[in-house]
Amino acid sequence: MNGSQYDAIVIGCGPGGSSVSTFLAQAGKRVLTLEKEVFPRFHIGESLLPCNHTIFREMGVLPKLHEAGFLRKLAARFELGDDSIGSSFLFGKGRFNREPEAIHVERSRFDHLLLQHARGSGADVREGWSVRKFSSDAEGVSVEANSPDNQVQSFRASFLIDASGRGNLTGNQEGLRIIHPRHKKLAIFGQFADLDLPPVPNRTETIIVRLENKWFWLIPLSAEKTSVGLVIDKDEFTSAGTSPEEAFHYWVNNSAAVKKRMENARLLNTIQTTSDFSYYNRRLIGHRLLRVGDAAGFMDPIFSAGVFLAMWSGKLAAQTVVEALSSGKVGGRRFRIYEKRVRHGLQFYWRVIENYYTTPFMELLVQPRDHYDLPSAVIAVLAGEVEGGWALRWRLKYFWLLVRLQRFLPVVPHLSFLPNA
Ligand SMILES: Cc1cc2nc3c(=O)[nH]c(=O)nc-3n(C[C@H](O)[C@H](O)[C@H](O)COP(=O)(O)OP(=O)(O)OC[C@H]3O[C@@H](n4cnc5c(N)ncnc54)[C@H](O)[C@@H]3O)c2cc1C
Repeated sequence: MNGSQYDAIVIGCGPGGSSVSTFLAQAGKRVLTLEKEVFPRFHIGESLLPCNHTIFREMGVLPKLHEAGFLRKLAARFELGDDSIGSSFLFGKGRFNREPEAIHVERSRFDHLLLQHARGSGADVREGWSVRKFSSDAEGVSVEANSPDNQVQSFRASFLIDASGRGNLTGNQEGLRIIHPRHKKLAIFGQFADLDLPPVPNRTETIIVRLENKWFWLIPLSAEKTSVGLVIDKDEFTSAGTSPEEAFHYWVNNSAAVKKRMENARLLNTIQTTSDFSYYNRRLIGHRLLRVGDAAGFMDPIFSAGVFLAMWSGKLAAQTVVEALSSGKVGGRRFRIYEKRVRHGLQFYWRVIENYYTTPFMELLVQPRDHYDLPSAVIAVLAGEVEGGWALRWRLKYFWLLVRLQRFLPVVPHLSFLPNA
C-alpha cells in the first residue's frame, strides 16, 4: 500500500465534505479530502437556509461569505401557479428560529470558497481525484482513487466520511439506496437576466410557485442573474415527448405567477436538466464509515434544505469522529446516535415535502392561520430548525393535525384550482 496515513478520508468537497473537513482539521485531525472535480465547478442548489449561518460562524467562514457579497435571503415565498394567492415567511419574524437571514449563492463560487476554507484550516484537499472504491478492516479504511493523471493510488485512514453527494459512492457500492417511488422528478433550469423582480437590495425572497403537480423556483443570484427552475414528474415529461426547453417554456406560459415575472427575461446560458429522484440509504453508517449530505439521502429541493442538511450532518460527523478518535473506540453507540440524528433530520423534511404535493397542506401554507404562533413554527421549518425544542415541536404536531382536518373539516377556505391533489 502506498499513500499516507490519515485520521479521516473525506470523499467529495461539496458543502458536506468541506464542512466535515474544516471541523476535523480545526480539531487538529489529519484529513485527506479527495474531490473528483477541479473547482470552481457548476452545481445546482442556490438558496440556503438561515440555520446555515450558525454553521458558517462555527467554521469561521462567515466573514468570507459576507465579503464575497452573496445576496441576502430574508424570506421564502410560496405562491400558486395561477397567481391567485401567495404568502411570504419572513425569517426575522419567526419566534423559534435562531437566525434571521440566509444567503442566495452561485454554487460555483460558494463551494469553491468553502473548499479553500477547508484547505486553509489544514485539510489536505486534493482536486481532480476520483475515489473508485473503499474497504474497511479492523485497523482502518482504505480507498482507491484515480489521480488527475489517471494513476490509481491507495490511501489509508482511521475513518471514512462519504460526502460524494448524489454520486452516493459507498451507498451504491453496498446496494443501500432506496428511491422514493412517488418522487421521481426531473429539474429543468437556467439562469436568466431581466426578470421582473424588486431591485437589489430588496430582492430578498426565494419564490416557490406550485402548479398542479409540479413547481418552479425563482432564486435571485445577483442584480443581473436569477436562477429559474421547473421540477416536473419524470414520467410526465417523457410521455409529453417535448424537449426540456419546450417543456420549460410551456409551463412558464401556463403559470401566470411565473409568466408575469419572465415577460422580458433573457436566458444567460443554456437550459440544463438533472434528475431529481428522492432517495435515502438504508444505513447512514458502516464500519468506520459515516455518510453525510446527499450521500446519506436526497429529497426534492422545494424547501432548500439540501446544503444545510449536508453541512449540519458534516458537523455532526466531524464531532463523532473526533470523539471516536479520542476514546479509541470504533463506531458503536456514537455512530448509532449520529445515524439517528441525521435520519431524523432527513425524515423531518421528507414529511414536509410529501405533504407539499397535497392540497390541504398547500391551503394551510398559503393561508397561514395566525394563532398559537403557527406561522413562526412554519418559519422555523423553513429556517432549518430540525432539532427545535418543545415549543416548536408541539406546534408542528398541531399543524399536522390541522393538515389532516383540512381534508374533512376546512380550517381555511379550500382552493379549488388544484385539481390533482
Ligand atoms: C434541482 C435541484 C435543486 C436544488 N436546490 C437546492 C436549493 O435551492 N437549496 C439547497 O440547499 N439545496 C438544493 N439542492 C440540493 C443540494 O444541491 C444538495 O443537497 C447539496 O449540494 C448536497 O451537498 P453535498 O456536499 O452532500 O453534495 P454535493 O454538493 O453534490 O457535493 C458532492 C461532491 O462530491 C464529489 N464527488 C462525487 N463522487 C466523487 C468521487 N467518487 N470521488 C471524489 N469526489 C466525488 C462531487 O464532485 C461533488 O463536488 C438542489 C438539488 C437539485 C437536484
